[in-house]
Amino acid sequence: MSKELNSYQIAQEQIKEAVKKLGLSSTVFDILKQPERELTVAVPVEMDNGDIRVFTGYRVQHNSALGPTKGGIRFHPDVTLDEVRALALWMTFKSAVVGLPYGGGKGGVACNPKEMSPREIQRLSREYIRAIAPIIGPEKDIPAPDVYTNPQVMSWMMDEYSKYKGYNDFGIITGKPVIVGGSLGRNEATARGCSFVIREAAKAIGLDMKGATVAVQGYGNAGSIVARLLHEMGCQIIAAVDSTGGAYNPQGLDPVKLAEYKKENGTVKGYPGSKEISNEELLTMKCDILIPAALENQITEDIAKDVQAKIIGEAANGPTTPGADRILTEKGVLVLPDILANAGGVTVSYFEWVQNNMGYYWSEEEVNSKLEVKMVNAFNEVYKMFKNNKGVDMRTAAYMVSISYVSEAMRVRGWLGQEPAVAKSRQVNLA
Ligand code: GLU
Repeated sequence: MSKELNSYQIAQEQIKEAVKKLGLSSTVFDILKQPERELTVAVPVEMDNGDIRVFTGYRVQHNSALGPTKGGIRFHPDVTLDEVRALALWMTFKSAVVGLPYGGGKGGVACNPKEMSPREIQRLSREYIRAIAPIIGPEKDIPAPDVYTNPQVMSWMMDEYSKYKGYNDFGIITGKPVIVGGSLGRNEATARGCSFVIREAAKAIGLDMKGATVAVQGYGNAGSIVARLLHEMGCQIIAAVDSTGGAYNPQGLDPVKLAEYKKENGTVKGYPGSKEISNEELLTMKCDILIPAALENQITEDIAKDVQAKIIGEAANGPTTPGADRILTEKGVLVLPDILANAGGVTVSYFEWVQNNMGYYWSEEEVNSKLEVKMVNAFNEVYKMFKNNKGVDMRTAAYMVSISYVSEAMRVRGWLGQEPAVAKSRQVNLA
């Protein structure tokens, strides 16, 4: 996260605008601008050389009006409490925009897993989950993967929590390996959801997916799979960058081979037949669809003024700053905001939790088709809000849709005093 840009303040600014546009009272903003609960933990971990290192971890529960809080755990050197607050806040509205019966939460540990051994990461995962165990639970707060955490980490955390409880509690965490209660399709879900929303957006603005050019920033789980799925829909992937370097080929890159190359070499840089491209060049290059799939605050005002893409699909959380948003709106770029575009991950996490609760598991086709229904419905609802309200961009429209549901839940629960109703009641878990 950049020093000058505080994601938490940005997140607050985003919801303030939507609360105002909906004509809701300041009480709604006063509740939503801050988390319901936050916990900071010191996590001592024995390193392989026998030293003890104490890591700082967080778990933030933003709002539980619609259900238990839900959201991933990030392992990254730049994790701060404010970043986790922002990410937790975004989760509340992400879950609400796709109609999940969840609130938002998030966790993080300031650490660099790239410099830790698998055994050190395992010890950290177990110690961290023990430290936050008193405030989480399948009916309270359900973690999941995020940046630099994965199914293996989820499995260790589930195992540790199950030991703490004294029985197998698969519903405590989602994004697990399939053998221990994970859902088929979860690994690809963020990317798949993103590809559905991009497809719908392209339809809405009359952009043909066949031959549409795509540039991807970040070639990890989300970025590389979105690239593959868009390629399957007929798009041409012309460039990708990661934290080490980039690869560009105007004739198109094979997204699967590129992912294999990255796995072997740790970067997309140097991919055979490609030219090098910098991060900034990629963000501002001529292409139809731009996918930020890395970290926060990547598309700043400076970048936004040179963006040439027609659609931006935010696979990452918080990649665009508010100043950049304004510039992109003026330029007529259709930004598919993170809380909509990357909601596929938490949607299939919800399916995983439902399957764990039932003890009955679905086929991958069933998961994917249920995901498609949710994503297409959410896109249509947000797009309608965007079209029906002058001066509102897609991000504000997505917040307006989700805040209206969160606020209605708070109102009927009696959290808002005499606040009048704004949202029609909706059955939140409607397919
Ligand atoms: N970390 C993911 C996100 O930011 C997934 C959260 C989840 O599955 O609960 O949406």
